[in-house]
Amino acid sequence: VPFDQLDGEIWFNGEFVPWKDAKIHVLTHGLHYASSVFEGERAYGGEIFKLREHTERLIESGRILGFKVPYGADEIDDACNELLRRQGFTDAYVRPIAWRGSEMMGVSAQHNRINVAIAIWQWPSYFDPEQRMKGIRLDLAEYRRPDPRTAPSKSKASGLYMICTISKHAAEAKGYADALMLDWRGQVAEATGANVFFVKDGVIHTPTPDCFLDGITRRTVIELARRRGFEVKVRAIMPEEMEGFEECFLCGTAAEVTPVSEIGPYRFTPGETTRRLVEDYMAEVQPKRMAAE
Ligand code: PMP
Repeated sequence: VPFDQLDGEIWFNGEFVPWKDAKIHVLTHGLHYASSVFEGERAYGGEIFKLREHTERLIESGRILGFKVPYGADEIDDACNELLRRQGFTDAYVRPIAWRGSEMMGVSAQHNRINVAIAIWQWPSYFDPEQRMKGIRLDLAEYRRPDPRTAPSKSKASGLYMICTISKHAAEAKGYADALMLDWRGQVAEATGANVFFVKDGVIHTPTPDCFLDGITRRTVIELARRRGFEVKVRAIMPEEMEGFEECFLCGTAAEVTPVSEIGPYRFTPGETTRRLVEDYMAEVQPKRMAAE
């Protein structure tokens, strides 16, 4: 079934509309000029993990692109929760998106309406579950994450995903699950939809998010790792250093914590540290019921 023909509802500018009817005009500014920002969230056991942080990032992403999301954080949170309930899922993926509408055509879109929609669907595992335990294989992407002076890299802006789709398609064509992108300086940046971590001698290393998305999962994993007593070094990482790393994993809302076995010529063996963080993350995302005292 094509994705636009699913059953259920989509929250569209304040209303719940039938999934198939949630349509926009071909002259939508967001389509022509990529004036759109989005989020990716996951619900576990009926609760959306870190919902408020995602909603705040959506609003901030819009602000960076020069527009104001016309709903407050409480309204967006309520809409996500209500839609999750109406869709009848407990475990699901949540996709809010905000974009400039079709009132004016041209680079300038000062008076275009800012539209907001939320869709929720079931998206069990971003990477093939079988590969996932052994570690997935990544290619090295040809394109690089741009200099933050060149692109609004703090925004989860649709336009920034053009390079991700090109890189992911090129990797998939060669049989890889995904691609690792370097940044404009040649440092290790991130995968096409997830952040990257490495392990060596029990120490965890991850690149400084100064020109790519500072993932909410990334921050969660750093916190969990430090709580476990691991040292986490957030620093510039050159690709040649991958030669010496023992373990590698990706993390993101959709990817959760996914072990990596291969990046281009470099090899890793998913080990104890990765396994522990996979488990800690899965425990962390479960709704915190009131502890019986
Ligand atoms: N980098 C990119 C390019 C992404 O698309 C994502 C997924 N949103 C991430 C990193 C991870 O972000 P988060 O943990 O907030 O989902």
